[in-house]
Amino acid sequence: MIKALARPVTPPPSDAAAEELLAWGISVFGSRLAICTSFQAEGMVIIDMAARLSGGHVSVFTIDTGRLSEETQTLIGEVRERYGIEIEVIFPDATEVAGMVSRHGPNLFRDSVAKRRMCCEVRKVRPLQRKLADLDAWVVGLRRGQSETRRDIEKVSLDAKHEGVTKICPLAEWTHEEVWDYIRRHNVPYHLLYDQGYTSIGCAPCTRATTGSEDARAGRWWWETDATKECGLHLSPSGELKREFDVMLHEVVPQAAPLQSRYPFFSAFRRGGSI
Ligand code: SF4
Repeated sequence: MIKALARPVTPPPSDAAAEELLAWGISVFGSRLAICTSFQAEGMVIIDMAARLSGGHVSVFTIDTGRLSEETQTLIGEVRERYGIEIEVIFPDATEVAGMVSRHGPNLFRDSVAKRRMCCEVRKVRPLQRKLADLDAWVVGLRRGQSETRRDIEKVSLDAKHEGVTKICPLAEWTHEEVWDYIRRHNVPYHLLYDQGYTSIGCAPCTRATTGSEDARAGRWWWETDATKECGLHLSPSGELKREFDVMLHEVVPQAAPLQSRYPFFSAFRRGGSI
């Protein structure tokens, strides 16, 4: 079932500001909405805004892949203390991780793009799918300026990858400067790795600092030269890679359906569809 279509709602105007989008999402979806964050700068802005708008009554969750940095764990504690909100921490399936690591080793992501995608699938994508099955809307910190693959993201859309859950990107139009200006003005806590030259932050072994001339996401899976710098939460692998990925994933998670059958209406999905 496409959840959002089961309860038609009127989307906010296309020029709605970030606070309006968040306020709209919170009022329309209530406890069926949650903020998903990995505690990067954009996520911190959204948490700060949502805490102000909701008086702290907003759901926030994060995925602990098992490979997060110490700095991320520290920031989770700071956020809890600062905003008085509970951060739900969701985990990958222990059996799936054990099967993958036993078969391919703990650092399989260095072997090939397909293995890296599988690690992201087991540690991030599948836990997210399980969580989104309980929600009608999720809020993420994607910005169009972050990379080529994100330049067309909508502020509000039906998330075709996740059975029609409404996806809200309040900062879609924001620039890097606007994000950091907000953080400074509101004294928002931020990830300490930014002070060490990181410009995008994910799992510890898959993220490094960047140099001034590099793309903001160049520090993610930096050893991959021709792969899309996405983990699969917002974009699926395609073609050859998808087939290789499906075969390996099936070995580790036999019950996992191939991507094509998991997202049957993905190719039919039209941008800008009404919700
Ligand atoms: S970012 Fe790296 S360690 Fe984290 S889930 Fe993806 S491949 Fe695995």
